[in-house]
Amino acid sequence: MKIACAAFALLLAAFPALAQNVKITPIGSHPGELCANDRAIIFEDPTGVRFLYDAAQNLTGGNDPRLGTIHLVLLSHMHGDHVGDTKLKAPGEGTCANSARVPAPNSTTAEVVAAKNAVAVTTRAMAAFVHNKVDTIHGSGSKPMDFCATLDVSVPVPAACSSRIDMGGVFTARAAGAQRGVEFTIVYSAHVNDVAPSLLTKAQQDLLKADGAQLGYGPPVGFVVKFTNGLVAYLSSDTAVFGDMKTVISDFHKASLAVINLGPNPGLFQSGAYAINDLLKPASVIFTHVNEAATERGKLKPNTQTAALMKQVKAPAYLAISERTMEFDGKGKCVSGC
Ligand SMILES: [Zn+2]
Ligand SMILES: [Zn+2]
Repeated sequence: MKIACAAFALLLAAFPALAQNVKITPIGSHPGELCANDRAIIFEDPTGVRFLYDAAQNLTGGNDPRLGTIHLVLLSHMHGDHVGDTKLKAPGEGTCANSARVPAPNSTTAEVVAAKNAVAVTTRAMAAFVHNKVDTIHGSGSKPMDFCATLDVSVPVPAACSSRIDMGGVFTARAAGAQRGVEFTIVYSAHVNDVAPSLLTKAQQDLLKADGAQLGYGPPVGFVVKFTNGLVAYLSSDTAVFGDMKTVISDFHKASLAVINLGPNPGLFQSGAYAINDLLKPASVIFTHVNEAATERGKLKPNTQTAALMKQVKAPAYLAISERTMEFDGKGKCVSGC
């Protein structure tokens, strides 16, 4: 059996077209667990295009060794736990309920974009923020970060740039020599988009404080990502249940994998079963952003809100366990690592 497996592995290596799976690797605060602050997930298309979905507070910085090659960084919204107003002190430090973090004044999003010369895929309003922070990291005298030259790029791009799309816009990234690219579409998220104040200038912070105000950067967003093997993943970001889940994301885009953010604020612990079973109807679900220490030694803890929701979901549902790679085929079925 071992010899047969080894022979099959060799065959896959010789004919990469046979290994047409998308690899999904969450990187959170504690290896092998799904913890309260976990959001960041790395996706890898069979053609080699690799991207990070929300740098969040889950990295030690732009050069976190767990990142590897990153061609694109998706940014869903400006809340500190997504744009990354703090960064991990070290994987495994602090508790699973409250990881140890230190300030990241330029945001972990900009740190990764700068370190990897990556494409920031986000709205133009949020891209302007990322441009500023990346320019700060690069220092004066360097060429300012700008929009990418086209909406269809080969990766790696020569210099960090951003996607220049807004709600409904489509951006394509293709690996050198690949016939097909990975398509990113920005979709709505029913949430808010106020920036973490610590990422603003002191003058701006004082102005906002005087009026008890928050500064928003246009609408917050989710993403639909079409991979070259046919997998269509919906990355919800923080969102309430909303009608587009059926019309735009399921009926139009035909998402087969739903990566769903939970947490108390958007109410999905209450509405998630309806959102997934009746509106999205995906082949598989991944849960992240659970805002509780959902696992212990890698196993789901029974008395958690996450466990209660898992029981109500009809499609196979998996936890975004940190540093565990799951593989999905073109139809949204998990074929390895789940
Ligand atoms: Zn949020
Ligand atoms: Zn959040």
